Amino acid sequence: MNSLKTEIQLRHIAIIGNPNAGKTTLFNALTGMRQKVGNYPGVTVEKKEGRIIFEDGSEAVLLDLPGTYSLTANSPDEKIATDILLGRVDHTPLPELVVCVVDASNLERNLYLISQIIDNRLPAVVALNMFDVAERDGLKIDIQKLSAELGVKVIPTVGSKSLGIEELKAAIAGHVEPSSRSRQWILPAPVQEECDELKGLLQQMHRLSEPIAFHEAIVLLTSPSALSEHNDRFAPGLIEHVKRDHQKLDLLGIDRHSVVVESRYEWIKRVCSAATVSHRRRGMSASDKIDQILTHRVWGFVIFIGLMTIMFQSIFSWANVPMELLGDSFNWVGAQVYAMMPAGDLRDLIVNGAIGGVGAVVTFLPQIIFLFLFIGFLEDTGYMARAAFIMDRMMSKVGLHGKSFIPLLSSFACAIPGIMATRTIESRKDRLVTMLVAPLVSRSARLPVYALMIAAFIPRKTVLGIFSLPGLTLVAMYLLGLTAALSMAWVFKKTLLKSEAPAFIMELPPYKMPSFKSVLLHMWERSILFLKRAGTIILGVSIVLWFLATYPKLERASPSEQLNQSFAGRAGHLIEPIIKPLGFDWKIGIGLIGSILQREVFVSTMGTIYNIKDAKHERGNVSLREHLQQDVDPVSGVPTFTALTAICLMVYYVLAMQCMSTVAVVRRETNGWKWPLFQISYMTALAYSVTFIVYQIGLVLAEG
Ligand code: GDP
Ligand code: MG
Repeated sequence: MNSLKTEIQLRHIAIIGNPNAGKTTLFNALTGMRQKVGNYPGVTVEKKEGRIIFEDGSEAVLLDLPGTYSLTANSPDEKIATDILLGRVDHTPLPELVVCVVDASNLERNLYLISQIIDNRLPAVVALNMFDVAERDGLKIDIQKLSAELGVKVIPTVGSKSLGIEELKAAIAGHVEPSSRSRQWILPAPVQEECDELKGLLQQMHRLSEPIAFHEAIVLLTSPSALSEHNDRFAPGLIEHVKRDHQKLDLLGIDRHSVVVESRYEWIKRVCSAATVSHRRRGMSASDKIDQILTHRVWGFVIFIGLMTIMFQSIFSWANVPMELLGDSFNWVGAQVYAMMPAGDLRDLIVNGAIGGVGAVVTFLPQIIFLFLFIGFLEDTGYMARAAFIMDRMMSKVGLHGKSFIPLLSSFACAIPGIMATRTIESRKDRLVTMLVAPLVSRSARLPVYALMIAAFIPRKTVLGIFSLPGLTLVAMYLLGLTAALSMAWVFKKTLLKSEAPAFIMELPPYKMPSFKSVLLHMWERSILFLKRAGTIILGVSIVLWFLATYPKLERASPSEQLNQSFAGRAGHLIEPIIKPLGFDWKIGIGLIGSILQREVFVSTMGTIYNIKDAKHERGNVSLREHLQQDVDPVSGVPTFTALTAICLMVYYVLAMQCMSTVAVVRRETNGWKWPLFQISYMTALAYSVTFIVYQIGLVLAEG
């Protein structure tokens, strides 16, 4: 009856572990379909919650936390996990039990987090997952010994085959005890002394419990960014104390940043050697052998470029048919509604505004699906980590981390998933730089513009025997975007967001067979997200645009006079002087204004402007193409569009922001308007100046 009350009374259990340890798989197995997905308040980190039902019929709330390697990490996803386990998040109760998912085939790395959880005296149960992988690798783990060393229950599981789930459930039911063993690892004496003193101060001044005070003391003493990031959480006196401690330890020649990590790993090594009997075959594992080729300086790069080429080729060619089908269905729906409704503004609004606008965007769904299918497979097999490793050499030249490459890669289809993918980047500044340049690489929204311009104005010539000029133009536009992104990243790292190039410490997880289920699920989640976002924003934009191009109404005006006098037309005339130096007239101006919200709107706006009945759906539309080719200035008789105008338009669209959904996502991810506004400004300025240069040089060349 009273669901709120029972919710509060239920036990809260959190699942934690390294990324890819199998948390979500176990979460699904434990909760079945009883789950809901939301966001943590104030941040855009996904919150997954479910119900677990025990043998005796009692229930508990199970929380699937974001993957993390430690409780001292800094990326937003990892921070949330830490904050919840330390009871720092409002409205999320401190979990009464933590289920630690450990990748058995990677015991050492996974135990780092466990050691922190034990330190914090959190009641815990360990799920020793990927037990099958460990066995396959010839790794024998003594469960009893491991359990004794850690002082917590250890249950072997194989999440992907639902093995060990009942045992895990039984271990969870009614379990409330923290580890039976106290802190085992030892800090060097001077560090330990400072740490104890600071811990005492924290307990006194901030009323923290012993384990939490110990955790905070370690973070304050050893984290490189401790003082800047935790400044406002602690009393000024305490911060001063920490500063003195830092000086003291630095004078002793102690490397504060690594001392804790090293001490913990010493303990971990002891635990591991006590609990494992390794029969690992001598020599290289299969993974190592594959890596010799795939991460090779030359071959790795060649293979990587090859894979990417195949990926984009197939995304575009496979997506073609479903995209056309989707476009046709929207046309069909539009036509049906058109036939059913009486003539008038409302019909126009629904058919041209709403259905046309939303349709134009939804048409891109197949590309999005294929992209995430590919990315999902590459991630699940473990190849993506190698790609980042290879690209790190290039990225480090502009001062970015290899990790920044994945968001850029995801941006190829649409900047939004790319910007969301920056959450894996730890350094705040690097994350910002990546976000700022990600829209420069994004592709698919620009494709309709490119396709239209190339088809109309780039002659079908063959160059050097095998390349076609239209194809080369397209490649040139892609390369321009990538070059611009890397150059701007370099500029930002040198100026606005100065910080050291991060060291590349990235471990390469072993290759494994991808799981169809998780790839498909991932793809499904992302597609829904895309539809929701694009759908709501685009619908609004399309309606507004339709109003602006339709009102104020004139008596007995021809459609083109009507457009001329509409709000949109007037706006076009207003900005004409500004865009004239780029070779654009007022009609292109309307297209530019309309497409501020979404690039592909340019094409549909051109369709409306040139007043062609069926030009709503743009790709390969012959009549719109011909209209563009034939349009001349009524006074001077000069063609509106030339090959040069077309190139200038494409260059402009490569570099300009022109996507409000991206702006909205950047605002959410950065929690404010400062960065998205900066991003719009710099990209518009960049687009304007480069287009200006291209046009002016083009004019000179044309005369000469
Ligand atoms: P998370 O990042 O910790 O949530 O990890 P996931 O639950 O998404 O799992 C990562 C991958 O490992 C998926 O492809 C799973 O199908 C796979 N997986 C999960 N548990 C096991 C296991 O016990 N054995 C094997 N071989 N694969 C597993
Ligand atoms: Mg997960």
